[in-house]
Amino acid sequence: MYVVKNLMEEVVQKYYEKIIDELDVCKCEKCKADVMALALNRLPPRYCVTEEGKMYVKLKELEIQFEIDIIAALAAAAYIVKNNMRHEERDCKNEM
Ligand SMILES: [Zn+2]
Repeated sequence: MYVVKNLMEEVVQKYYEKIIDELDVCKCEKCKADVMALALNRLPPRYCVTEEGKMYVKLKELEIQFEIDIIAALAAAAYIVKNNMRHEERDCKNEM
């Protein structure tokens, strides 16, 4: 079965897990989704038709090519989410 997938999503997700502790931003599901969405908006999408098992090599290539951009995008996104006034309105389980 073939799927159309934005590989950038996978890589951003991976880096999110990797650097979330350094980003100093709420880790609830809503804030995570916001950070991911904002970061992905700053990065070029990389759609590809793939079979599940064959994704890994392409992900690795993407990771190497965009590592710096991805980290910068996540940091910028975390900054926005942290300073976003709407944060209070969000249904957010912040453990502050
Ligand atoms: Zn939150």
